[in-house]
Amino acid sequence: MAGFNEQLGRDLDEIRGAGLWRELREIASAQSTRIKLGGREFINFSSNDYLGLAAHPALTQAAQEALDRFGTGSGASRLICGSLQPHHELEAALAKWQSTEAALVFSTGFAAVQGVLTSLLGQGDVIILDKKAHASMIDAAKLSGATLRIFHHNNLGNLEKLLQWAAGQGGRVLVATESVFSMDGDRAPLAGIVELKERYGAWLMLDEAHAFGLYGPLGQGLAAADGLAGRIEIRMGTLGKAVGAAGGFICGSRQLVDLLVNRARSFIFSTAPSPAVSAAARAGVELIQGAEGESLRGQLWQRVEELMRGIESLGWKTPVEPSAILPLIIGAEEKALAAMEQLRETGLFIPAIRHPTVSRNEARLRVTLSSSHTGADVRALLDALGQAR
Ligand code: PMP
Repeated sequence: MAGFNEQLGRDLDEIRGAGLWRELREIASAQSTRIKLGGREFINFSSNDYLGLAAHPALTQAAQEALDRFGTGSGASRLICGSLQPHHELEAALAKWQSTEAALVFSTGFAAVQGVLTSLLGQGDVIILDKKAHASMIDAAKLSGATLRIFHHNNLGNLEKLLQWAAGQGGRVLVATESVFSMDGDRAPLAGIVELKERYGAWLMLDEAHAFGLYGPLGQGLAAADGLAGRIEIRMGTLGKAVGAAGGFICGSRQLVDLLVNRARSFIFSTAPSPAVSAAARAGVELIQGAEGESLRGQLWQRVEELMRGIESLGWKTPVEPSAILPLIIGAEEKALAAMEQLRETGLFIPAIRHPTVSRNEARLRVTLSSSHTGADVRALLDALGQAR
């Protein structure tokens, strides 16, 4: 029997051989549209810091004030003695922003999804996921013990068939999907999904990780923009993307949040988020709803439009609806890596996204835009893409 490291070495060789090797890169600067890597500055088109809040003075100041008052660590899980004032203030701000009775903050969005699905469903129940649903939903659904069914991406006919079948199983039925998909930037047909889940008596969990802050009045997300928020049982978001901090949250009814506090193992058995991070997130949530948030959204959508127009004129397929995520599908994993390296030479940072994050042979350059990008940044990207093509 080979030794521990020898066995792991073979696993690693397999990963390398498949063109799927991943490694960490140390960024020596704050998160922004300019990042320092290996002593060189790059224009960054890869972060989810869509509104440029990750290093915004209003958020750092809120974090600093919380650090002075509450220190760095929360010291315990929320239910022991770690439920600090900044957590409660953030939850109140989230519930107000989303016009829900209550909200609950988790250490990450991943933990929030896990907490919800495992608290609400179990053996004898059915969870129906979109084919492109985020890994957090797939893992949580498996962990819950419920029967897992997958519907073709954004396909209402296929979803209806599964709902018909699930309605005869005798347990609870929950549909889960994303409002804006993380790797493609396309949108779920929300009105159709809401109509179907109501017709078949199912519940809906909507992951708005890539939509909160960006769409709708006050950046309340896509469901709110479509006037559907009040008909969705569970809406989930992350505080680590447009909000500019870290953590995840669930918003919905008082009963939903009370149940999570009592049952969600990823909430109960985990140290509460750092109070400084929650204070920063609250500042982010407030900023998003004000005049500055509105103006940042305006800048972001202007850049999105410029990039979409430019990409189209280069002959790439562009998404039907605008989003801050623009995938350039390359196909083979090695080709995507080569394209990434070529762009890196010209000072642009756009990582190749490969299996298992996306399906095999759907490797891509995932371009993301931020309100902090300038028109000149977008032109630099289009020039480099034109040359690479
Ligand atoms: N859902 C989606 C769609 C995501 O893209 C992410 C983050 N990549 C998550 C959930 C998890 O959120 P977090 O990063 O806060 O754990």
